[in-house]
Amino acid sequence: MEIILYDEGTAKELDIEEIARYLAQKMGEVKIEVRGNPFVFNLSHDKVSDYARKIAGAKIQEVSQKILSGQEPLYGEIEYEKRRILGKTKSFGILYDGFHLQRVFCEIISREERSIEFVHIFFTNRLFATWDDSDRRYHLRTSVYGIPSIISTTGLVEAPAKPREYYLLKQQYERFGKDLTKLKDGFKGRFIDYEDERLAGVIKGYAMQAVFYFLTGAPFCEDKGCRLYNAHWQEELIFAQLESGYEFCPWHTKFLMKELSW
Ligand SMILES: [Zn+2]
Repeated sequence: MEIILYDEGTAKELDIEEIARYLAQKMGEVKIEVRGNPFVFNLSHDKVSDYARKIAGAKIQEVSQKILSGQEPLYGEIEYEKRRILGKTKSFGILYDGFHLQRVFCEIISREERSIEFVHIFFTNRLFATWDDSDRRYHLRTSVYGIPSIISTTGLVEAPAKPREYYLLKQQYERFGKDLTKLKDGFKGRFIDYEDERLAGVIKGYAMQAVFYFLTGAPFCEDKGCRLYNAHWQEELIFAQLESGYEFCPWHTKFLMKELSW
């Protein structure tokens, strides 16, 4: 087993080396490699255009409308994605279908490494969502697990809900044109924000979810204090990742000990 970490545009927000060191600590003998930009391995001109077109095709236009595979993006959208792939622009304000994105990222991985010997984790600042048939709309996601697993730094801020009072007050602040940073200060500690110093600490738990998906097929845990807890609220996320007083529940601690002979 080998874990490979990729930086798909998070460089300024996230220290992936720190995540690698954490995984090395938890995973014993398992080899861990940090690869940086996943596209540089496959960057011929044709390839860039091809990936750019496919990624642009993963863009959600309307949250209540499921996108079809093979939708044909506009020229400008493809050009934008080319620049994004080459690191010449930042992803901002675009929402992608998480599973479509995962399919494109999977293509970047060489055939030999698309096997059960490898855990591929892409850290990205792209915001993505997945379609839910029960209410027929897209829902923002922090991560999708599979080949590869994708963890979004933007998703961590945007997907889990902030405290209800925050949204109520935010409406008032907006109505009266008050300064939102003051509001955020009042809620400091209760949600993860952009450029939050707690980001790396939180991401470690999501990286472990990707590892557990690989090891057991189940990335999540019912225990609210376990790093594998599937948080839907920011406060749950902060508790599970940083404040519960332990990293993993007894079951998952034991599993790691047995599996990796700590
Ligand atoms: Zn657990």
